[in-house]
Amino acid sequence: MAENNRYDVIIIGTGAGGGTLAYHLASSGKRILLLERGGYLPREKDNWDAKAVFVESKYRAKETWYDKDGKPFYPGIQYYVGGNTKVYGAALLRFRERDFDEVGHYGGVSPAWPLSYTDFEPYYTQAEHLYHVHGQHGTDPTEGPASTPYRYPPVSHAPRIQELFNDFERLGLHPFPLPLGILLDEADGKALHTSACVRCAAFDGFPCLVNGKADSQVICVDPALEHSSVELLMGAYVERLETDASGRVVTKVIVTRNGAEEQYSADIVVVSCGAVNSAALLLRSANDKHPGGLANSSDMIGRHYMRHNCSAFMAVSKDPNPTVFQKTLAVNDFYFRSDDWEYPLGEIQMLGKSDGEMLKGEAPGWAVWKPEFALDYLAEHSIDFWLQSEDLPHPDNRVTIHPDGQIVLSIHETNLEGHTRLTAKLKGMLGDIGLHDHLMHRSLYLGKDIPIGGTAHQAGTVRFGRDPKTSALDVNCKAHDLDNLYVVDASFFVSIAAVNPSLTIMANALRVGDHLLERLGV
Ligand SMILES: Cc1cc2nc3c(=O)[nH]c(=O)nc-3n(C[C@H](O)[C@H](O)[C@H](O)COP(=O)(O)OP(=O)(O)OC[C@H]3O[C@@H](n4cnc5c(N)ncnc54)[C@H](O)[C@@H]3O)c2cc1C
Ligand code: SF4
Repeated sequence: MAENNRYDVIIIGTGAGGGTLAYHLASSGKRILLLERGGYLPREKDNWDAKAVFVESKYRAKETWYDKDGKPFYPGIQYYVGGNTKVYGAALLRFRERDFDEVGHYGGVSPAWPLSYTDFEPYYTQAEHLYHVHGQHGTDPTEGPASTPYRYPPVSHAPRIQELFNDFERLGLHPFPLPLGILLDEADGKALHTSACVRCAAFDGFPCLVNGKADSQVICVDPALEHSSVELLMGAYVERLETDASGRVVTKVIVTRNGAEEQYSADIVVVSCGAVNSAALLLRSANDKHPGGLANSSDMIGRHYMRHNCSAFMAVSKDPNPTVFQKTLAVNDFYFRSDDWEYPLGEIQMLGKSDGEMLKGEAPGWAVWKPEFALDYLAEHSIDFWLQSEDLPHPDNRVTIHPDGQIVLSIHETNLEGHTRLTAKLKGMLGDIGLHDHLMHRSLYLGKDIPIGGTAHQAGTVRFGRDPKTSALDVNCKAHDLDNLYVVDASFFVSIAAVNPSLTIMANALRVGDHLLERLGV
């Protein structure tokens, strides 16, 4: 291996985990290599074209995975510098304090994390500041204590969403401004001329044409690359990791780039390919010392896959809803229980506004409801919600590799009752919040193969913990079985809570980054 292929740190994957870690380590002066299978997401008008993004899935990976019965499906995944944060909705919420403890659900137990909210709190603050989170602590009754306010005020509600906010309050609920990672400076509901974000309708699920979204590429990878000690190789697909004879040290990272094999090495190797691909990479890297997959003496790798029980719904407002930027409100009153049920239900958030092209793509499924509502009426009156509940880590919900190399994802639904009840709660309120009494599924937002293709919130496949028998990583996210292998994407999750995952991935990457800086003697 050429001497210049040797680094202090290699980070594989540049999404929420890998990109954030790269940023944190970049100023150390250590030689850092980022390996990313994708390239930069092209900046073009189609970034904001609903037909290109949702109907034609232009930016999704052209990849086929298989379910447990061998049926092919098309995962909702994107491979770019910045990973899935290039298209995420940037709702950046902290786990609740109780989410780190064991929580009883109707469908089973959500296990405790090896660390507490207090351990994560300083890193949540750092991640909120780094990713320009706009919000207001103290307004969500379920959130834990925050040591420092957000740096940016909440994104203002459009008038129709403010009405919805008031209606929820009138019903005795506690709506709060959804914390968003966005490069927005606004006044009177309009973006200032200096603002990167222009407060358009393409926030959720679209890439941002003008780099106004706080994604991992814009916030972390590009600034990290300003340091001459940091390099990025794109189109660099990591095939496998090789170890020394003892099996304790990763000695080679084997990459396919431009159709040829290349080899790299580093004192520290960090895997951050997203929960499915990280598990797949470790399983592909089995060798004599690690016959069941690299770092897999616990047999935990690939297991406990989680991705939330979630639904995207469109409701129809009795008054027109001319809102452009809709994703500004959330309700957590049913997060842990409701007045008529003692178990967690989940979170209600606003979603990006339905667009005429999306409606055309989805309308056939709705015609049975009110055929007299023409599509343009629906487009003018739609209000969109995202409902998110906790699924539970099940050992048989897992990633495996088919002998021919394909990814197999086995899923058994868990803990659905809470989600059903959350949906019923929203449905029961529709008439009181100025909406017609019907919720319509928006399947295009998540991917056409729901539920299995809804891989947006994938997590849990390389869980961390204190016991090497029941976890693959230690509390620093280092593999128990190896001395120089770390994992910092959503794989390390022990449970997934009912909030969006990215802020916890980012906070954890900063936490692991502090550990690595100490280990590197910086
Ligand atoms: C439509 C959509 C909306 C979302 N909205 C939100 C939201 O509002 N809030 C929120 O918190 N989360 C949201 N998410 C989820 C969020 O994007 C993910 O949780 C987050 O990006 C996961 O971070 P990660 O580091 O685990 O993986 P990723 O961000 O997926 O990064 C993994 C990286 O590894 C690269 N890679 C994979 N395999 C290899 C390989 N073998 N070799 C080299 N590189 C490889 C990939 O190309 C990618 O860049 C959304 C996701 C989607 C798809
Ligand atoms: S709302 Fe802002 S961040 Fe989102 S796509 Fe439009 S300009 Fe970009």
